[in-house]
Amino acid sequence: MIGYVNKVIPMSVVDGPGNRTAIFFQGCNFNCKYCHNPETINHCIHCGKCIEVCPTGALEKREGRVHWDKEKCVDCDRCLGACPYNASPKIYTYTPQELAKEVEKSIPFIEGISTSGGECTLQYEFLTEFYKEVKKLDLTVLTDTNGGLDFEEERFQDFVNSTDGFMLDIKAWDEEEHRELTGKSNEMVKKNLAYFTKIGKLEEIRCVCLSHLDNKKTIEEAAKVIKKWGNIEDISIKIIQYRHFGVREEFRNLSAPRKEEMEEYYHFAKELGFEEVILI
Ligand code: SF4
Ligand code: SF4
Repeated sequence: MIGYVNKVIPMSVVDGPGNRTAIFFQGCNFNCKYCHNPETINHCIHCGKCIEVCPTGALEKREGRVHWDKEKCVDCDRCLGACPYNASPKIYTYTPQELAKEVEKSIPFIEGISTSGGECTLQYEFLTEFYKEVKKLDLTVLTDTNGGLDFEEERFQDFVNSTDGFMLDIKAWDEEEHRELTGKSNEMVKKNLAYFTKIGKLEEIRCVCLSHLDNKKTIEEAAKVIKKWGNIEDISIKIIQYRHFGVREEFRNLSAPRKEEMEEYYHFAKELGFEEVILI
């Protein structure tokens, strides 16, 4: 079994609690306008358009596929800018055991791993095997997800059981806002919010705030669901001010709420009962 990985950050303090190895998987089922790493959205179709912009000859076509030579690469990212498909030629492939070996290098500096993307759960069968290997290392396992798949389905049960907790993005509570922003309905996200809370596996929710979204409604409605099915004081909320760094040129017109509004969201979340509110 092979996992397609865009990047491994050996030690991160922003991807879940404590110091963690963060692994970003390739491929996503949403297409968020504010995506900060749009090159993780699609898998490479080997069109070869990026080869000509590479200044070091790190990319070449062999038998119809684009190969990336890591040793020659200087990480200038010109290939990412040249790709018309929101993909990357710089992809690592691992077996679950190989990726666990990579994680092992950061012990004893980490308390666990977080998987993200892209949308890492699209590779849930790989994750299930990988998590079993990571558990042998006595590390905790958290999954960052956009909540777009139906995790209550039978096929996901091994995966859900192998995960210690989920960090769920709630991009907008309003259906129209969510569709406009991500290209997808939020019906499944709401279902997963209730499900993860019920089974005691919701670790954190994340809301990215844009000036034209009803951010308060998103925070308030999410809190209602959490209170209905679990203890809000046990769940963290990360309230993130939109930043345009890394966002595709055509979506640079999005704007962030003012600092005072962000502070208002912070106090609002506290009033609703969240104990850990992280404003970014
Ligand atoms: S990031 Fe690496 S592969 Fe991509 S263009 Fe630059 S040197 Fe070439
Ligand atoms: S990364 Fe993009 S431009 Fe390069 S070969 Fe793949 S699809 Fe084509």
